[in-house]
Formats: sequence, C-alpha cells, structure tokens
Amino acid sequence: MQRLLTLEEALAAILERARPLPAETVPLADVLGRVVSEPALSRVDLPPFRSSAMDGFAVRAKETPATLPIAFRVAAGQPALGALPVGSAAGIATGSAVPDGADAIVPVEQTVEEGGCVQIAEPARSDAHIRPRGGDVREGAVVVSPGTRLGPAQIGALAAAGVAEVRCSRRPRVAVLATGSELRAPGEILGPGQIYESNRGLIAAALSPVGADLELLPVVRDDEAEHRAALEQGLAGDVLVSSGGVSMGPHDLVRRVAAELGVEEVFWGVAVKPGKPLSFGVRDGTLVFGLPGNPVSSLVGALVFVRPALLALQGLTDPGPGFHVGRSEAPLRGNAYRDEFLRARRRLDDEGVVLVPVTGQESHMIVRASSADALVHVPRGAGEIAAGTALRYLDLA
Ligand code: AMP
Ligand code: MG
Repeated sequence: MQRLLTLEEALAAILERARPLPAETVPLADVLGRVVSEPALSRVDLPPFRSSAMDGFAVRAKETPATLPIAFRVAAGQPALGALPVGSAAGIATGSAVPDGADAIVPVEQTVEEGGCVQIAEPARSDAHIRPRGGDVREGAVVVSPGTRLGPAQIGALAAAGVAEVRCSRRPRVAVLATGSELRAPGEILGPGQIYESNRGLIAAALSPVGADLELLPVVRDDEAEHRAALEQGLAGDVLVSSGGVSMGPHDLVRRVAAELGVEEVFWGVAVKPGKPLSFGVRDGTLVFGLPGNPVSSLVGALVFVRPALLALQGLTDPGPGFHVGRSEAPLRGNAYRDEFLRARRRLDDEGVVLVPVTGQESHMIVRASSADALVHVPRGAGEIAAGTALRYLDLA
C-alpha cells in the first residue's frame, strides 16, 4: 500500500473533486434538504402592510387615555376600511391591516368595551404593537443565500416571502454496490462460509439524509465479469459507492476492475481506524468510493468521506463532516498514526455531552455499533487522553 493519506488530506482530495452539479428549479413543496444555488429573493415587503401584533383596538396614541367610540372593526384578510376617524378607535385582530391615522394598538386585555365604546385607562405608546411594513424583509432582498441547505425555518421564510420555486443544485445520483461471494440476503438460508449482506442498506441509510438519489445495484460475487458489469452500470451516475474488495487479497477486485474501466485512482489508503483501505477515484466527473467491507468500516467511510462529498456536489458552503463536541467519560489512548472513530453512547450531565464508548470496537461488530449514537473522533498522536477531555463526534442517531 502506498503512503496512507491523513484524514484531512483524504477529505481535501475528495472535496476538491466534488464540484457543484448543475442547478434545477424545484417547487417549494420539494425543497426540504436541498441546497440553494442562486439567491432566493423576496417577492414582497414582509409584512406586506402595517399590521397589528395583537387583538385589540387601533387608536391615535395622543388621544389616550380616553373612552372612544368604536368606528369599525378590521379582521385578518380584510382591506383596511379607510382611515380611522379622529376621536375614535377601531377593533382590530392580530395580523390585520392597521387603518391609516392609527399609530398604536391597545391590547384587548387593557380595555373595557361597553355600549359601542372602548375605555382605555392607560396612555398608549406611539407604534405600540404595530408591525411596520417590510420589518422582516424588503421586496427584492435575499431570503436564502446560495450554499444554504433548506430546513423548516428557510422553507417557512421562502413561503412567507412569496417564493414558489427555488433554484437548487441537482441531487447526486448515487449507485451503491456490494461485493463478496460470501454474501446472502437476509431471509435466505446461510450455507457454509456465508454471511448476510448488510452494507448496501447501511450505506444507503447513511447517504439518503443528505440528498442522495440512490440506486442499489445487485450484490456481485468476487468475479471480474460481474464486477465489470456492475461497476460500469454504477459509473453512469454522479457517485459510485462500493463495499468490499479493496484490500490486498487475491479476491479483492474492485480497484483493478475500476482501473480497467477508466477510473483514475486519486488515493488508496487513509490513516483512519476503522476503514484504512478506502479507495477513491474519478471517471469523467463520477466520484468512485471503494469502502472496505467490514460493516463498521463502511459506516465510517460513508459518514466521514462520502456524505461530505454529496453535500459538496450540491454546493453546500460547509460540507462537513459536521462534528459536535462532547467530553470523554473515561481516559482513552489515541492511536499513534491513525485517526480513530469510536462508537459511543451519549449521556448528558450538567456540563453537556459525555461520551461513553460501547464495548466491542472491532470493525466487523456492527451489532455492537448499533447500540451507539455517537461516532467519536480520537485524533492520531493524541497519546493518553484524560477523562473529561473535549472530543469531536458525529451524531449517529
Ligand atoms: P473485504 O473488504 O471484501 O475484504 O471484506 C472485509 C470483511 O467484511 C469480510 O469479513 C467480509 O465478509 C465482510 N463484508 C464484506 N462485504 C460485506 C457486506 N456487504 N455485508 C456484510 N459483510 C461484508
Ligand atoms: Mg470481499
């Protein structure tokens, strides 16, 4: 194996090649999780008119305190019924247009209504409970900037600003392939030497939350012709992710067959544990990840390397990996040469998140890993790490 790249070098080599895909127009109903590629501009001043923040009475502040006749009432969705006559009040509902002439709202709780009049005991402050037109955003101003991933607040903002469709980078088409003659589908009977195939579903589940348009390819045996057919099919997409077959064994065919199909290998081997023999290459703009077959290695590779690539392909400004910070519960020992990713459970104490590694940290132990909700990064060369030391982790939940 050539010199192992560090975690940072490998990520940089990947992200450098993950250029944003072309933009498409997406209706607002479908934009959750999409990354904006052109500024989305407000179609209106928001609020579009001076509106009331409370149920109550619109008044002229300088005429209060007073008992005022109620000239008319305004409900939400109605146009303002002309100006407020001098010496009167107008009933008004939250979100309704404030009539011209009025400069304050007196909340209903601070009034007494009797015989067509309203008694207001305290002087109202000018502008009280009035939302100015355009106080949130002005027509033509940017609501969401390029490189932003759309969540609930952004989707609400776009709708409020009258934006019905958004220009977003296309979602990457991602083919997922598993290799190994020993693999059987769950539900089948295992023969001697066989195990159940777990990585396609695992990889798909790791990638679908970041906007991958996934295609699961059939499982292939350790046979060159089968590898060639499946890899060729997967290379038609934007990203091909395979599991298994990238180590040193005689049946590890992925890199050789990929090279024959024109994939230029960018690197093979990263100084991380688990997941060292990860390979990465490119063919005509298609990114090709060869994840090692041990299930936890595939999980780490998918979360640490493939996910950021998918987000970068969509133009996200900071594609991650998106680490959080917690503290180790017990002393740890860092590996001298490799960044390590430990499976751990999170616990909250008064000072925040405490990370407790699960028992069973070997790369084939996917069931042990399944009880974890955090993937803790232990930096290479960290030596003895005291209990309570701050460590970064990825959320597995
Ligand atoms: P490989 O990377 O092909 O050398 O595989 C490493 C280990 O992971 C071997 O024990 C394989 O049997 C196992 N493995 C490979 N692919 C899968 C898979 N898709 N599901 C479960 N285990 C796998
Ligand atoms: Mg194999």
